[in-house]
Amino acid sequence: MNAKRWIHLAVPFLLCVVLGAQIDPRTALLERGAWNALNAGQAHAAAEAFREALAADPKNARLHLGAGMAASLERRDTDARDEFERALALDPKLAQARAMLGQVQYRMGDPASAIRTYDTLLTLTPDDKAARATLERWQREAELHDRMQQAVGSHFTVSFEGPAEAELAAAALDVLDRAYWRICQLMGTFPLEPINVVLYTGEQFRDITRAPSWAAGAYDGTIRVPMRGALDKPEELDRVLSHEFTHALIRTLAARLVPAWLNEGLATALETGSLEWAEKNAASQKPVPLRVLQAGFGRFTGAQAQLAYATSALAARRLLDEAGGFAVANLLRDLGEGVDFEAAFLHRIQRPFADFQAR
Ligand SMILES: [Zn+2]
Repeated sequence: MNAKRWIHLAVPFLLCVVLGAQIDPRTALLERGAWNALNAGQAHAAAEAFREALAADPKNARLHLGAGMAASLERRDTDARDEFERALALDPKLAQARAMLGQVQYRMGDPASAIRTYDTLLTLTPDDKAARATLERWQREAELHDRMQQAVGSHFTVSFEGPAEAELAAAALDVLDRAYWRICQLMGTFPLEPINVVLYTGEQFRDITRAPSWAAGAYDGTIRVPMRGALDKPEELDRVLSHEFTHALIRTLAARLVPAWLNEGLATALETGSLEWAEKNAASQKPVPLRVLQAGFGRFTGAQAQLAYATSALAARRLLDEAGGFAVANLLRDLGEGVDFEAAFLHRIQRPFADFQAR
């Protein structure tokens, strides 16, 4: 049930910057400030600083790399891709730019380009085991998807592996269609583009998503669901697909900057079934403040994750009850456009976030 937030482009490596010898001191200073901001996770400040440095030194591949990384942290994927491509046009050997480019291409739903990019990357850095493992995983995924058949509905395209799963795919389409109308009406928004859904065996699902063992589904632009035994438990199929569809709907409103508690909370609150489990879970433990639930839940153990989901679901439920789905949809739109969270919350929900959280 996790939204696969752990696929997000973190900056996993220490940024080691060798400043070019020919750069004038002011640009060098700007560049240093930009990398420091990036290392501190201040994506917006970093983006501004790289922009300024690039104005003075537009042919500097490393500055384009930095600008791309800042854009990527801000989830401006198209900008990020363009910057990495510019960096590579200036310096084709800049392996870090190629690695980041592949990740962004994959995240943008273009696995074929991502695979080509990593193929080239590995000719430059043949000993990079992590990159090789990523490439192999993407290749397995592409081969599997080539083998798959598709069931096409009006709002969803469901891919599945063999004739044995055709019945299941039809059932999934049915469930998804019901979730579509129920949840879209509540939020007052109806996505027009069809949403891709892939049904996996349990094993394929773990391999491709690298989801923690407690995850019952994943969303990374495509809804991915392990299907073993799903037809025996229709209510579970309904729950999981409603949850993942809500993530897809949220993505159409805000591709970035949605705190995990809001994203997971809405997805969990809009599942079919009651939130009694969440009330029990939250009541029996020390409450978790929403602000520690900003980042994805993939890092949690099963029990921690359960409390995180329970807390988030109850907060989202209250938000929907008090402000209505339409206001929450507007809050998400504002966040996606980069409006500051506190300001957006005050404007759309009509009360300060601190107030809401205190209850
Ligand atoms: Zn989720």
